[in-house]
Amino acid sequence: MQGGTVAVVGGSIAGCAFATALARAGAGEVVVLERTRGRLADRGVGLCVNDERAVELAASGALPAGIAAHRLERRRWVVRDPGGAGGAGGRLIWEQPFPFHSYHWGLLWRGLREAVPPGVVYRQGEAVTGVARTGTPAPGAGAGAGAGAAFATTAGARGEGAEVRLASGAVERYDLVVGADGYRSVVRAAVCPESRPHFAGYVCWRGNFDAARLAELGGAADPVPEAVTTVCFPGGTCVIYHIPGPEGLRVNWVLYAAPPQDGRLRFDDPTSFPPGALTPELAAQLGALLEREFPPYWGRALALTDPADTFVQPIYDLEAARTTAGRLLLAGDAASVVRPHNTSGAAKALQDATALADGWRRSGSFDELVRRYQRARGPAGRELVALARRLGRAQVERTPDWAAMNARQMAAWWQEQLAGAPGIGGQAMAP
Ligand SMILES: Cc1cc2nc3c(=O)[nH]c(=O)nc-3n(C[C@H](O)[C@H](O)[C@H](O)COP(=O)(O)OP(=O)(O)OC[C@H]3O[C@@H](n4cnc5c(N)ncnc54)[C@H](O)[C@@H]3O)c2cc1C
Repeated sequence: MQGGTVAVVGGSIAGCAFATALARAGAGEVVVLERTRGRLADRGVGLCVNDERAVELAASGALPAGIAAHRLERRRWVVRDPGGAGGAGGRLIWEQPFPFHSYHWGLLWRGLREAVPPGVVYRQGEAVTGVARTGTPAPGAGAGAGAGAAFATTAGARGEGAEVRLASGAVERYDLVVGADGYRSVVRAAVCPESRPHFAGYVCWRGNFDAARLAELGGAADPVPEAVTTVCFPGGTCVIYHIPGPEGLRVNWVLYAAPPQDGRLRFDDPTSFPPGALTPELAAQLGALLEREFPPYWGRALALTDPADTFVQPIYDLEAARTTAGRLLLAGDAASVVRPHNTSGAAKALQDATALADGWRRSGSFDELVRRYQRARGPAGRELVALARRLGRAQVERTPDWAAMNARQMAAWWQEQLAGAPGIGGQAMAP
């Protein structure tokens, strides 16, 4: 297929990858509408991509070369061990291979943004307030067409397409609209309004700090930069690993636990607290958790985090009932929100872009394209959500008696969570 006009709503990881994939595949006009006015790169946190997925994504062109990445090799599960042989760093209960590379969100985004071809128009400060299908679907047209009653269909439109409404009041019409607008997607509200985020019942605290500061802790339990440490405690886990940063290695951590008790805050609503918004009460609760549950070395390490670099956010997941409807199509977190335990979100967003580019090259019409995309990506999101729910249950909601577990029991516990899946970090795309 050649030509056509496409709007990509959202210009983050999925949005940049889709813009690049569409332009390279032959779309005539690609516009990215991103509501953020300032620098997206300032959001930076760590994330990981599975090595096999990274190789596939580099081969498909979705993951540009030259983006800073830090190699991780193994994952060590430790418990607090007061007075035991494990010492300040805790007692090792299991070690498993962890073939991933870690990224700094801002550096990954910058690499994807720089790869967007110059012909794409990337408009910042453009908040989309709604989208709608237009025109009459062709007979037997793509997945989701049968759900047309759920959508506003503009009477008298010139043919099938989609309209985008902007906060300015302007309305723009395109042949195809991609919703790459994240977990609170406006596009998803039009594609499947019945699909809603589910609160997992717990939150994650996360932060990062300059890895050089670990030297302040005395060095006795210094982590190997290639090792991920998972601190295990009753009712939660904390994953700690090095990431590349703009000025050298940083330590990134994500701690999952029950919501903090603060009468003024609600965690059953998909809101996050931006950096710097940690209240003194929340900071005190985090400090108490580290003191009570963590091996002393790791408690002191996390306490090195500047409160301005500390976030707390509720954990949600969401399975979209469908990923396409008429000329609307969902991508990345807009299509499925996966609990972070699976470390698959960025890889999945880039796979979505690969699938669309592949579908574009093989399709003779937009209807065929959306059908192919739904077939290729619909099941992928559901599988990831289901796996991450099992991981979350086992690692946060119903934690085992960690201190009593040995390596053999840990390995069996892990296989139970996978339930036949080959591993975490996402699956290979079907050919
Ligand atoms: C704690 C945590 C840890 C994680 N760890 C990992 C990990 O280890 N590995 C991994 O692969 N993934 C991880 N993820 C997930 C990963 O960050 C995302 O899955 C991935 O970045 C895909 O994001 P996206 O581009 O689809 O959405 P987002 O990054 O949410 O981007 C959506 C974009 O759309 C814009 N937007 C939203 N609404 C509108 C609108 N109405 N109009 C215009 N623009 C709009 C937003 O400003 C934003 O730029 C983690 C997530 C969390 C929360």
